[in-house]
Amino acid sequence: MSDLLKEVKQAGVVGAGGAGFPTYQKIDAQVEIVIANGAECEPLLFKDRALMEHYPEQIIDGMLKVMSHTGASKGIVAIKGKNRQAISVMTQHLPGNITLFEMRDVYPSGDEYEVVYHSTGRRIPAGGLPLEIGVVVQNVETLYNISRAAAGRPVTHSILSVHGHVQTPVTAWAPLGMRYAEVLELAGGATIDDFVLLDGGPMMGNVVTDLETPVTRLTSGLIVLPRANKLVVRKSQPEKAYRRFGKSACDQCSLCTEMCPRYLLGYPIQPHLVMRSLLTSGELSQTLSHWAQACCECNICSLWACPEELDPRNVCVTTKRDLKQNGSWLSPAQLQKMTREVHPMQEFRGVPTARLERRLGLNKFEHAAPLVSRDILPNQVTIPLQQHIGAPPKPVVSVGDRVSVGDLLAQADETGLSVPVHASISGTVTAVGDMISLQR
Ligand code: SF4
Ligand code: SF4
Repeated sequence: MSDLLKEVKQAGVVGAGGAGFPTYQKIDAQVEIVIANGAECEPLLFKDRALMEHYPEQIIDGMLKVMSHTGASKGIVAIKGKNRQAISVMTQHLPGNITLFEMRDVYPSGDEYEVVYHSTGRRIPAGGLPLEIGVVVQNVETLYNISRAAAGRPVTHSILSVHGHVQTPVTAWAPLGMRYAEVLELAGGATIDDFVLLDGGPMMGNVVTDLETPVTRLTSGLIVLPRANKLVVRKSQPEKAYRRFGKSACDQCSLCTEMCPRYLLGYPIQPHLVMRSLLTSGELSQTLSHWAQACCECNICSLWACPEELDPRNVCVTTKRDLKQNGSWLSPAQLQKMTREVHPMQEFRGVPTARLERRLGLNKFEHAAPLVSRDILPNQVTIPLQQHIGAPPKPVVSVGDRVSVGDLLAQADETGLSVPVHASISGTVTAVGDMISLQR
């Protein structure tokens, strides 16, 4: 393993814009192009914009390190054209081998497949990886973390936005393990009584009701909404209900498919056929179910396209789960045979963010969430060991130990894919288990 890979692994860097895949593994490759993904397409999230406005040197430094390691001759920073301040700041720091690509303000422009296609003209193979077409994509927060890792500084904080029904929307660096209840206080607290949180954005985020939930490396934003909000109610429907409604009310108009961004890029996804599978059984149902496999779970079909307000997205999500469980998951080669040309209307069917916000009833929250630069020091944190894809790390501290910010709490499990966890505040270890608690 190279020095950079060791440093990135030891610092606990994982993909901040996705499911938490360990970065040391993702950048262990030879490619032609490295893309910094700063497109940030979820409404009401502002952390990537804040990073590019305030930390351009670190992002570019992380990018150059990844380019050097992977042998890439070209770097691209993908950023929405509307983010003029971030563009202006980043432009001042770009070396000759990195260019800036302005993305349209549509959802889901930040999806890895969208970013790669629009900025390079290449398509990631269905079921495959960007590596196969000579590309590595990293979220700008991950690149920031790579730069720090190379300087021996581990990941101890996550940058996140707090928005919705709060006093003052903010973006802040929250120590890992900080309780969501305290994170809300950074924004002056909730301004309504009976509320829930959307964790990760209104389109792809989950409804969270437990305010004791800790910040992890993947936390990108919390949006406070009333429990009775229509979006919250739709996202909280149980599987039995959305499958039953889908079975009885889907009229097969196929609008969900016609607006699906992955379908428009030519991938083998057709949610209306997956909805049809609810009405069928046996081999036919199985065949129809395969049209769910390339779904990226963006929610355009459910929250934008479907005139009946059905939930093809979650039907696709649960159908994918079932395909895996019953051994019917198609191989990348099989999926690639089902891939078609990019749809001729692809360019014209992007969903403008402002219109999406209006549709979701979030347009009253359009104002930005500026970065607060002060240090955030909660009295206690509870840091989950499992914050990434792979094996959880093994604790190296015991109850009663004193630790400082950045000290190792749990080391990577060397038997497989794994990254360590470090202290996010200085204090005393008060519990060690699936999570490690620290008290100042
Ligand atoms: S969630 Fe819906 S629109 Fe998005 S990729 Fe899946 S099927 Fe297509
Ligand atoms: S848009 Fe709605 S009603 Fe039309 S096919 Fe899709 S799920 Fe069915």
